[in-house]
Amino acid sequence: MTEVHCETYGADVDGEAIDLYTMTNGSSAGVVVRLTNIGATLTQLHVPDRDGKLTDVTLGFDSATDYFENAPYMGSVIGRVANRISNARFTIDGITYDVAKNFAEHHHIHGGLIGFAHKVWSGRVIEHASGQAVRFDYVSPDGEEGYPGNLSISVTYVLTSEDGIRLEYAATTEKATPLNVTNHVYFNLSGHNAGKVFDHVLRMDADFYTERGEDGIPTGQILSVSGTPVEFRQPTRIGERINQLEFGYDHNFVLASEPRPEPELFGEVYDPSSGRVLQAFTTEPGVQFYSCGFLGTEKSKGGGKGYGRFEGFCLETQHFPDSINNPHFPSVVLRPGQTYRQVTEYRFSTR
Ligand code: BGC
Repeated sequence: MTEVHCETYGADVDGEAIDLYTMTNGSSAGVVVRLTNIGATLTQLHVPDRDGKLTDVTLGFDSATDYFENAPYMGSVIGRVANRISNARFTIDGITYDVAKNFAEHHHIHGGLIGFAHKVWSGRVIEHASGQAVRFDYVSPDGEEGYPGNLSISVTYVLTSEDGIRLEYAATTEKATPLNVTNHVYFNLSGHNAGKVFDHVLRMDADFYTERGEDGIPTGQILSVSGTPVEFRQPTRIGERINQLEFGYDHNFVLASEPRPEPELFGEVYDPSSGRVLQAFTTEPGVQFYSCGFLGTEKSKGGGKGYGRFEGFCLETQHFPDSINNPHFPSVVLRPGQTYRQVTEYRFSTR
C-alpha cells in the first residue's frame, strides 16, 4: 500500500505552508514520487532501470523558490486552459472574454501570466483505494487572468501498485468557462540530466493530428499522420525524423473524438539504454507531444547548470489547442452543474 510522508519544502506564502510530499508503494522496484503544492507539481520520480538502479526521470529543480519561477512549467499542473488560445480571446454564450496575452504578443498560453502552475495549492494526504494519496485543491476566482466564474479544481496523485503515477482531476464552476488542464511533466528515461532524448523510441496510437499554423496555433485542419514525420503508429526513434520539423515535435495528436469514461493506453516510450518503459493512459481526446525544442534553463536538479533543447519530452494529455475557437474540436466549456473529470496515468516498467 502507498504511504505518504510530508515535510516542509519552503517558507510559508500568504499563510499557506509550502510542502514536499514523498510517496512510496512498498513494491520491490522502490519507486519514489515527490510532489509540492506549488503548482500541484510532480518534482521527482525515481524509477528503476533494467538492473534495478533508481534514477529520477523527470526534469526539474531543487528548491521551492525555483518552482515559483519555473518558466518551462516542469512537472506542474497547467490551467485554466493549457496550450494556446488564439488572439487571447473567446466567446461563450454571446459574451466575449479577453484573457492575458502572454505568448507571441497576441496569444494566450498555459493559463496566462500567473496560471495554475505558479499558484499555491492546498495539499493534503487522503485515503485512496491504493493506500494514501495526495490531493491538491485550488480555487480560481472569477476574472483571474480574464477567465469567467469562480472555479474549484482538485488533482489527486495516486501511486499504484503497478508503478503507475495516476492523476485524477475534478473541477466545478459557477459560470460557463473554458477549462483544459494538463500536467506538463518533462521526462528523460535515461535520467533527468542524461542529455538529448533522440534515442528514445516512441509509439503513439494516433491516426490524426491537428495541423500547426503560425506560432503553433491550429489551422483547424485535422490531418492524417500517414507518411509524415509525426507518424508514430510503429515504434520510431524520436530523433529519426526530427530534423524535418523546424522546432522538433510540438504537436497535438488526436486520440479520440470525445473524452473517454476510463483512461485508455495511447502510447509507449522505450529507452533502449536503461531499459525503462513508460506507458501512458488518458481519458483525454488529445495529447501534445513536445520534444522540448524551446527548452533552455539556467538551473537543474542537483545544483546542475540547466537543461537544453531536446533533453526531455512531454506527453501533455489535454483537449486540442485553441478548442474554444474551433467549434468542431471536442468542447472545453465547463458549465455550472457539470463536473470536469480527467484521469491520466504514466506507468513504468523495464524491458
Ligand atoms: C508548448 C510549447 C512550449 C512549452 C513550454 C508546450 O506545451 O506546446 O510550445 O514551448 O509548452 O511552455
